[in-house]
Amino acid sequence: MSTTIDIPVLIIGGGGCGLSSSIFLSNLGIDHLLVERHPSTSVLPKAHYLNQRTMEIYRQHGVADAIYEVGCPIEKFGQIRWMTSLGGDGVLDRKEIHRMDAFGGNSLRERYDADSPVTATNYPQLRLEPLLRAEAEKRGAERIRYNHEVLDWEQTDSGVVATVVNRDTNERFTVNARYVIAADGGKSVGPREGVAMVGPTGMVDMVSTHFTADLSEYWDDQTLITWFLNPEGESSWGAGAMVQMGPTWGRNSEEWVVHFAFRPDDPERFNEEAIVPRLRELLRLPDLTLQVHKVSHWILDRIVADRWRVGDIFLAGDAAHRQPPTTGLGLNTGIQDAYNLTWKLAQVIKGSATDALLDTYEAERKPVSTDGADWALMAFANHTVIDAGIGLTPGAPLEVNVAAFHALFSDGLLGDALRARAETTINTQQAEFQAHDVEIGYHYAIDGAAVVADGSAPPPRSATGTIYTPSTRPGHRLPHAWLDKQGDRISTHDIVDNTGVFGLITGSDGSAWARAAEVAADKFGIRVNVARIGADLADEHGTWAKLREIGDGGAILVRPDNHIAWRSVELAEDTEHTMTAAFEAILGRH
Ligand SMILES: Cc1cc2nc3c(=O)[nH]c(=O)nc-3n(C[C@H](O)[C@H](O)[C@H](O)COP(=O)(O)OP(=O)(O)OC[C@H]3O[C@@H](n4cnc5c(N)ncnc54)[C@H](O)[C@@H]3O)c2cc1C
Repeated sequence: MSTTIDIPVLIIGGGGCGLSSSIFLSNLGIDHLLVERHPSTSVLPKAHYLNQRTMEIYRQHGVADAIYEVGCPIEKFGQIRWMTSLGGDGVLDRKEIHRMDAFGGNSLRERYDADSPVTATNYPQLRLEPLLRAEAEKRGAERIRYNHEVLDWEQTDSGVVATVVNRDTNERFTVNARYVIAADGGKSVGPREGVAMVGPTGMVDMVSTHFTADLSEYWDDQTLITWFLNPEGESSWGAGAMVQMGPTWGRNSEEWVVHFAFRPDDPERFNEEAIVPRLRELLRLPDLTLQVHKVSHWILDRIVADRWRVGDIFLAGDAAHRQPPTTGLGLNTGIQDAYNLTWKLAQVIKGSATDALLDTYEAERKPVSTDGADWALMAFANHTVIDAGIGLTPGAPLEVNVAAFHALFSDGLLGDALRARAETTINTQQAEFQAHDVEIGYHYAIDGAAVVADGSAPPPRSATGTIYTPSTRPGHRLPHAWLDKQGDRISTHDIVDNTGVFGLITGSDGSAWARAAEVAADKFGIRVNVARIGADLADEHGTWAKLREIGDGGAILVRPDNHIAWRSVELAEDTEHTMTAAFEAILGRH
């Protein structure tokens, strides 16, 4: 007799996006089943940088502390450097060309800390996924099924009927799901549903070698990535970029990954035997003892799904967008997709919102992820600007590039000029390594979003992606400020919790808004946490007063994902009607 499971949400895929979806849904009180075809989480290191926005989300959902406990602290990954090699005694060996503060570390720290209650961290997917799996299982072990595959599905009037196989036993069962999150990486669901992935594909084959070696003599306690630039390398991507992978952080990192870019038609790219000699040659460490764990291939694309919703199926993570690794937006964007989608599913499943709220998922996430994919591609291509800026000419005879490197390190006016040019050029890569605004400054455009426009214009964004301008304009992420709650320090982000509650922030004269929110909450069956800043919560240092852009009688409505849904700069005539109308618009209950 075949078994049937009826469940509100089926998650296909147990990568970073699927596991995060499960954690968020559990916290939101929504039952679900996660099905992953592999017996275990990823065996490849893959993505590693978790940006501030992702860590804010994980903090809200009670996962951040577990990650900080084992992840790389910001003090140990806040720099990027460009070098000719790690070892060697040649005149051009061991030269540091440039060093840049990155990811909110070092000189960036004060600015990044002012804008968020958290720091970014670094923790490779190979270790992050087991941690997320444990967190997901802690919230409901029966919901997580590895070594299970979704074989087939059909959309009906009341959801999706899927056939799942248990690969241990070969038993098949049926899942009747009201909704499906396709966090499958893009291999199965989208293609079968006729979703087109739009954009350039097959740019390069990124060959990543994951290995163990003692490099403590050659690394430092600040650098996350070393880019190698030398006369023999065709380009920085061709030469290689090396990343510390822990589990000990800093110079004593045991594991490393070196990425080489190959043309997808280069026959050499599968020549694994050539990898170890090439690595030793790149590092100029001919006697280095190293143990290779895995050589993996990743074909780089910059593609975004034309549709993110097909009936009751929602694409998320790599299923909806795939981009170059530069700026580290791949996994981060996937986790942020899950965060946007799950609170909306929860509102609809609980009956507070209509199906129209689910349409806002694509309207909000597709433009943000398209911008992110374009940014990643720009940052990827910009590495060739660096090659040119240091005088490396791809394809030129070796002696030409050797001469260029000698000139770069020479004494005198020419050397000074070339180094100054190199510095200016490499600093354009701040767009990748100091992308603070790209990471936390994105906002949801008004059209089609679960947001009520107030007629204001968005603040200007920095063309370099580095300078974040906080705003309480609807659609934006709620600016962070530390507040005092009866002796406890809380962030403005803590006004909402992780159970799907809305937040209403008012000034000291905003009591009428608080009463109006209570009426709306009763009417729609939702919960609203009211925070009167200046009354229940103290803004001791006046930080919030500088950010809020509303008067003492104004109010800001915050969604469960800490994006602003609506605001009124001053007290309105009819607060109850205004507030109810705002909720109607947001919850799709016009
Ligand atoms: C080799 C490689 C190296 C990478 N390196 C980097 C890097 O250095 N930096 C970076 O930023 N990003 C990197 N990425 C990209 C990054 O890993 C992805 O952005 C991230 O994994 C996306 O997470 P996801 O959960 O959306 O998808 P995935 O991690 O792809 O997870 C999807 C899961 O769905 C499962 N699945 C698919 N179909 C089914 C089905 N029918 N039934 C059940 N399960 C199913 C798959 O088995 C898979 O585990 C790399 C990717 C690869 C492949």
